[in-house]
Amino acid sequence: MSAAETRLSPRLLIVGPPGAGKGTQAVAIAESLGIPAISTGDIFRANVKNETELGLKVKAILDAGDYVPDSLTNELISDRLSQADASEGFLLDGYPRTLQQVQFLDEHLAAQGQSLTTVVQLVAERDEIVERLRRRAVDQGRSDDTEDAIRHRQDVYLRETAPLIDSYRDRGILVEVDGLGSIDEVAGRIESALAARGFTSVASAS
Ligand code: ADP
Repeated sequence: MSAAETRLSPRLLIVGPPGAGKGTQAVAIAESLGIPAISTGDIFRANVKNETELGLKVKAILDAGDYVPDSLTNELISDRLSQADASEGFLLDGYPRTLQQVQFLDEHLAAQGQSLTTVVQLVAERDEIVERLRRRAVDQGRSDDTEDAIRHRQDVYLRETAPLIDSYRDRGILVEVDGLGSIDEVAGRIESALAARGFTSVASAS
């Protein structure tokens, strides 16, 4: 039997507080596994930048560090997951972020006989995170990275998103990874954690 036949479809999610380095790691993991990295934050920011109808609707919400309404976010993600490149797996970054989104995603996948296979939780200290976000704001000129917005996003994350991690832990699909250290160190930890669950890079599986 070939490696391709035995390979599970990776339907993954990466979670962690804003600034824990999810985006960077998501792109690397997705590339290594040959699946798309789907970041709702990136999609929203691209829409704001291009001044699309959606972008105009969500700009003020993003700038304030609040969550876009579930209805808009769920619609966006169901469209994106229906695209051909996501049929054999994907890595979600920044979605789901509320219990209502967790439920929507479960139902969306179940309707196609699918489910999330693994949730990677990046664990990082609050002080380290605030410092990283300040640096990123300078490097990338993100208009939603003012200090107030950074603090507010941390609070919103703790209140809204941290609780839903428990529901993935209860299902036995959560893997916790220490998010402190260099990008390569963290990437190495995630790679080992995923390999232990049967997900190996496209290059090493072929
Ligand atoms: P960060 O990781 O810094 O919080 P993201 O790029 O993930 O940034 O998201 C940026 C912003 O986009 C969020 O603050 C929020 O306004 C919006 N957003 C992204 N994903 C979601 C989601 N799943 N639900 C609601 N709003 C979202």
